Amino acid sequence: MPYAEAIAAGSASINQCPPGGEAGIRQLADLLGIKPMPLSAVNGVTKLKAVALIDEQDCIGCTLCIDACPVDAIVGAAKQMHTVIEVECTGCELCLAPCPVDCIRMIPLTKLVASLESSHSIIIDSGSLSESEIKKRAADRARERYQFRLQRLDREEQEQAEKFAQKTILASRGSKRASMLSGLKCTLPHQSDS
Ligand code: SF4
Ligand code: SF4
Repeated sequence: MPYAEAIAAGSASINQCPPGGEAGIRQLADLLGIKPMPLSAVNGVTKLKAVALIDEQDCIGCTLCIDACPVDAIVGAAKQMHTVIEVECTGCELCLAPCPVDCIRMIPLTKLVASLESSHSIIIDSGSLSESEIKKRAADRARERYQFRLQRLDREEQEQAEKFAQKTILASRGSKRASMLSGLKCTLPHQSDS
């Protein structure tokens, strides 16, 4: 169950998200009208914002990291080197474990605001924005990309299903034709009979 749904259902407390840290806990507490609580250590600790970096020399193009990335921040094709779109990377680390050659590492960003300002397309003219607003925009962007990814996966699944259905139809036509031909052969008189 997604974390937000679990909180809404009352089956998870508001202190289970290390990336959100204390600020996230405070926001959730405000939203729900409850008291903030210290971050639970069960799911890890809050780390400095980091982005994934692929060592392109070692990448074997297996595409497993693409499958794992929830926001489609990795680009590449099968058997080609892959690369991370740094500005879209949320630092979730989900791509690390699937990589069979351990060629992805996390690079901490010492200044989140500086990194976002330098390259994030949605943070144009961010000079007047507070850090919390910039973080909010980054979170909105990540959510948006996650939704895009779900739509892409749905679309690909549908395309696959259509291709499969098409192949099945063609195969069935082929086998019908083959059986008609073999029936025809059986009913033709042998040359020696004539
Ligand atoms: S760290 Fe997360 S968001 Fe960044 S590339 Fe890896 S899976 Fe994608
Ligand atoms: S999982 Fe590792 S080896 Fe495979 S495409 Fe991604 S970076 Fe390259």
